[in-house]
Amino acid sequence: MKYIVVTGGVISGLGKGIVASSIGFLLEARGYKVTAIKIDPYLNWDAGTINPYEHGEVFILEDGREVDLDLGNYERFLDISLTGANNITTGKIYERVIKKERRGDYLGKTVQIIPHVTDEIKRWIGAVAKKSEADICIIEVGGTVGDIESMPFLEALRQLKLGLKEDLLFVHVTLLPTTEAVGEQKTKPTQHSVKEVREIGIDPDFIVGRGREAMKKGIKEKISLFCNVPSEAVISAPDVKSIYQMPLVLEKQDFMNLLIKKMGLTERKSKLSEWKRFVNSVLHPRKKVVIGIVGKYTALQDAYLSIREAFRHAGAKLSTEVKLKWIEAEDLIEKRGLLEEIDGMLVPGGFGPRGSEGKMVAIREARERDIPFLGICYGFQLAVVEFARNVLGLKEACSTEIYEKTPHPVIYLMPEQRRIKDLGGTMRKGSYPIRIEGGTIAHELYGKNFVEERHRHRYEVNPAYVEEIEQGGLKFSAYTPDKRRMEIAELPTNSYFVASQFHPEYKSRPNKPSPLFYGLVKASLAKQKQSKS
Ligand code: GLN
Repeated sequence: MKYIVVTGGVISGLGKGIVASSIGFLLEARGYKVTAIKIDPYLNWDAGTINPYEHGEVFILEDGREVDLDLGNYERFLDISLTGANNITTGKIYERVIKKERRGDYLGKTVQIIPHVTDEIKRWIGAVAKKSEADICIIEVGGTVGDIESMPFLEALRQLKLGLKEDLLFVHVTLLPTTEAVGEQKTKPTQHSVKEVREIGIDPDFIVGRGREAMKKGIKEKISLFCNVPSEAVISAPDVKSIYQMPLVLEKQDFMNLLIKKMGLTERKSKLSEWKRFVNSVLHPRKKVVIGIVGKYTALQDAYLSIREAFRHAGAKLSTEVKLKWIEAEDLIEKRGLLEEIDGMLVPGGFGPRGSEGKMVAIREARERDIPFLGICYGFQLAVVEFARNVLGLKEACSTEIYEKTPHPVIYLMPEQRRIKDLGGTMRKGSYPIRIEGGTIAHELYGKNFVEERHRHRYEVNPAYVEEIEQGGLKFSAYTPDKRRMEIAELPTNSYFVASQFHPEYKSRPNKPSPLFYGLVKASLAKQKQSKS
């Protein structure tokens, strides 16, 4: 097993995750089996209890674990499925150490960061790598070097390097800013950052400089000289129009061959043609549609990262640029005009009452004016509520999440959820089988009778209302095999009015777009053509 550790310097949000995923992708393109571990040094046990509008989206894995959005990048770039164990947090490590202490495993000893916490980190990494049966394990350390929280992890990795030698390499991603006034690239932040890494006993094997533009002449040599790495090991990673270009940018600099040689692996030819074709259709679309995303706090777009990527994948397949227009749900109550100029609409997942009435204003417009519509999770539930209110005439219908005493709880708390007190990790989460009925839009798009998709919810369609809703014209085209839970609703009378209880965005991949997103983009294109002619 070989390890590549990716650390970050100077500032967070450098795109370290994209660099790490790109490295993984390039190795995989050479036929190596790659897995990835993301280390998040915060104390939360997992990302499930962190506000996505602060930290970015909570990504859901097959096993239902709630993890950092970077794991989504790994899944998309590498086309693999990871598990909760691929995301290590301080909370998870400390929980283990404390459990052992209570059990008496360390009896008589003072339990300390070194060696007890660092040993546990090393054990975790080793176990995940071994179980994956991969050739190479990418380990990305969240945050920036120098943060108090990441110290135990970096120390554990330093210790690992002692034993593993060339089987473990360090890639340090740092900031390479360009001055506004004279357009000069500055290496000082990189120098300081590398110095900081060295102080904790880690010698970077490669330095990746992230900046607005590619490294100018002499910059690689300068960094090489100050930071004690050969100039070929200084890699330029300028801003790219699409994140999916990053592997190609790195490949051009012979980065992988150098890395492979250094690790003692054999060089192999890389297969990049399919990826290049995908990137090409992302960069040179022939058509364009505008999709309105009706959400809450739409300002932090990382909160909807997988949705954005799913649109990119679907768009690429249709040679279409999907422009997203972020619409604040609460504004819709007053300003109706916000829904003009969109070709299609998506109402994403969400929680709580705020913004829910605004979302239903949007859904009603979509239904009545036949705007292509996709609702996800909360978007699905609100579509059912809107239908019950305005088509079935159950004026006070609601989800009990919004209005507990509604006389028509068309969306209610799942029976098994009623006993649960803890809010962390207790939703119905992860992959579950779904049966799709023949002759429906859903079946046409998936082309299968059974699929598996990922979930994250506490509420669901109340079975007592299913018949009435279907008689009113909203069809449940997919459900769990026991038919107890509704999974997809669609309106046969509209061109595309589809909503799912599950989250289709998590399984979308560059060359395998999610069928429901593909359906929305396609319908939006058709609608656009129709309104132009
Ligand atoms: N709040 C809803 C529920 O808990 C929807 C959740 C979601 O959109 N992820 O069921």
